[in-house]
Amino acid sequence: MTRKEFLGGIACGAAGVALAAPNAAGESRRQLSSAPAGDFDVVVIGGSCTGVFAAIRAAEAGCKVALVEMAGGFGGTATQGLVPIWHSLYSTDGKTKIIKGLTDDMEQELVRRGEARMERPDNFARGAVINVAGLQILLDECVMRQKGITPFLHTRLAAVECDRPGHITAAIIADKAGLRRITGKFFIDASGDADLCRFAGLPTWKLPKDMMQAHTLCAILSGYDAIRAKYPKFSFGEIMKPEYGAGLKHMFGWGADVIGAKGLFFHAYTRVADCDPSIPEDLTRIEIEGRSQLRRIVDAVNRNFPMPAGEGLSIVALAAHAGLRDSCHVDSLYRTTTDDILYGRHFDDVIARGSYRVDIHEGAGITFKYLDGHFERTYSDEKGHHYETGRWREKADDMPTWYEVPYRSIVPKGSENVLAPGRILDCERDAYGACRVMVNCNQMGEAAGRAAANALAKGLPAAKAMVPVPFEG
Ligand SMILES: Cc1cc2nc3c(=O)[nH]c(=O)nc-3n(C[C@H](O)[C@H](O)[C@H](O)COP(=O)(O)OP(=O)(O)OC[C@H]3O[C@@H](n4cnc5c(N)ncnc54)[C@H](O)[C@@H]3O)c2cc1C
Repeated sequence: MTRKEFLGGIACGAAGVALAAPNAAGESRRQLSSAPAGDFDVVVIGGSCTGVFAAIRAAEAGCKVALVEMAGGFGGTATQGLVPIWHSLYSTDGKTKIIKGLTDDMEQELVRRGEARMERPDNFARGAVINVAGLQILLDECVMRQKGITPFLHTRLAAVECDRPGHITAAIIADKAGLRRITGKFFIDASGDADLCRFAGLPTWKLPKDMMQAHTLCAILSGYDAIRAKYPKFSFGEIMKPEYGAGLKHMFGWGADVIGAKGLFFHAYTRVADCDPSIPEDLTRIEIEGRSQLRRIVDAVNRNFPMPAGEGLSIVALAAHAGLRDSCHVDSLYRTTTDDILYGRHFDDVIARGSYRVDIHEGAGITFKYLDGHFERTYSDEKGHHYETGRWREKADDMPTWYEVPYRSIVPKGSENVLAPGRILDCERDAYGACRVMVNCNQMGEAAGRAAANALAKGLPAAKAMVPVPFEG
């Protein structure tokens, strides 16, 4: 790509943006507002915990930070998607605390407020069950405590401006004021879909759709306990069998209690496969198909396990948007491999540690691979639903109990002032099944925020700006 093509095709000049807003002459045109929305040291796009934690770490180091989130609240998949589980902060044997920092601080505060329940440290399936409404409010408080952070809610990144390849100078945002520009010196892409990196022309890649992990529209339901009490045979796993008529291709889903709300059930049994959330039409399909599946599941339960009027299964709340498991990844300085994760390789530039298993939601089934060398697989075919287990690796003396994520995997190739933490990190498919969980993304966010501040303080490019993480102590 020539410089002319780059500037003409990707960067979005001040006079170049026109969107619908009819004037008196009936022309449909809106110019980018000349009044900037602000000038910042660090601009963070995406306000999940990844983005919020990045913003906090940068602000703590003295930066003036813009935190841009398209939803009406912070927390991303956890709060807008309703997903309430943070995995263990300990090694798989439960003996070593491997994750501290803001994730640990938030958990402790939520426990203190009665809004989280800690599980056993060696519970590989869940570490903390969190009331996600409580988490969202706590994130507001944490953001507002930092004088250096300016939050922008209901604000979507629409385009970027660069003065040269790999060097972003402004984020063009769409909000209630129209289109505005936020200028900045360093940018962090915590959008989950690599929006910032893609719009800036930084290299990204994605798997073919049929290899991407499937997506899930989650909900909060009532009536589950009463139906269980009346019909011991009832479970959501059971209702997904074809004979109950919900018309689902998959069989795997999961749920959890809702902390502080006895009788409510968090439900994650829908699944939409073969969709790429960075494609607008696919994103629309995920939402509508997810809700349709939920409707069919609830109706199948009420049809097959009837209850007195008003006591059946009800949808109390739908997630604000579907939970998206897989999308675009940045092409970074290093692609973390599956062996790096499953053999627990150590990195000089480690920024995150994790112990959660490889967890791949394939089209209709699911595969788990564990650090101790065993695997589980559930899948469906024309003969029905199947479960198998075995070993992907023979037993050895050096079985790891945690793994590490290197800084290089969040540094896009060619990036001068951009980092890409969270689920857009660069890693192989199976490695991604482990790296993508929230306690890992949270740590990547913290590392990105620290590195951004360091880059600005010392005049370093993104690749050289890593700050060692204080794992111990
Ligand atoms: C159904 C489901 C269940 C899961 N279960 C678990 C679990 O139990 N435990 C666990 O740890 N992990 C779980 N995961 C995985 C985990 O939740 C995600 O991988 C993780 O939250 C990704 O974090 P992220 O910050 O990279 O992205 P996201 O959480 O997707 O956050 C991206 C944020 O950026 C915002 N954004 C996106 N584009 C723009 C834009 N253009 N402008 C402004 N803002 C933008 C979004 O609104 C969002 O707030 C689950 C995932 C799914 C889908």
